[in-house]
Amino acid sequence: MIFLKNNDEINKLRACNLIVLEVLDTLESLIKEGISTYELDKYAEEMTIKKGAQPAFKGYRGFPASLCISLNDEVVHGIPSKKRIIKSGDIVSIDYGVYLHGYYGDSARTVGVGNISDEAKKLIRVTREALDLGIEQCRVGNRLGDISFAIESHAKKYTFGVVRDFVGHGIGRNLHEDPQIPNYGAAHSGLLLQKGMVFAIEPMFNLGTEKVCIQEDEWTAVTLDHSISAHFEHSVAILDKGPFILSKL
Ligand code: MG
Ligand code: MG
Repeated sequence: MIFLKNNDEINKLRACNLIVLEVLDTLESLIKEGISTYELDKYAEEMTIKKGAQPAFKGYRGFPASLCISLNDEVVHGIPSKKRIIKSGDIVSIDYGVYLHGYYGDSARTVGVGNISDEAKKLIRVTREALDLGIEQCRVGNRLGDISFAIESHAKKYTFGVVRDFVGHGIGRNLHEDPQIPNYGAAHSGLLLQKGMVFAIEPMFNLGTEKVCIQEDEWTAVTLDHSISAHFEHSVAILDKGPFILSKL
């Protein structure tokens, strides 16, 4: 079931996502050679609690940390660890969510550390662009497939693999609500978009195969061919005047 949000609810979702934005900005400034993924998780958690919110992912279906942090060939759901030290050349995906006053915020981005390859730079840029192109389709009267198609088409231009095992989602009083938003699909197909729908749109592109597998920790998704992967996500409300990106200033 899809829940349409009124203005009051959209304001609450905005408040959640502004905290997510602030945490991600802070983490991005802290991501340097030598820091552990555990330290980044602690920063995120402490910042969130100081603001009176709660980390949304901690304990969600048993996830053991606040921050999902996925390096290089890891696609999503990497678990922070004291043993995992960031080094130059890594690409680091940070995915964060908070819960505040009954609502959720969710956003993600991928950053390069030190000298990263030109291929990695391109993968990061194109995945970010695909998110923007998907968001641009979040308009009353469009269809869900328009979002999916815009994202997939951009990846295809560069022959990147579009992850199919994980998708975007509605967000509101629940972290994950209907509808599912695949990063692939046909234009002019599927659900008719309406005012008050709020979506977390999250393309995940791989340099190689679209196929992923889950590590022994039962969480971390990695590319099957160990090629690198990038992930960008925004929470977006559909308004009469067009998309309102809740997790961006
Ligand atoms: Mg997320
Ligand atoms: Mg999400």
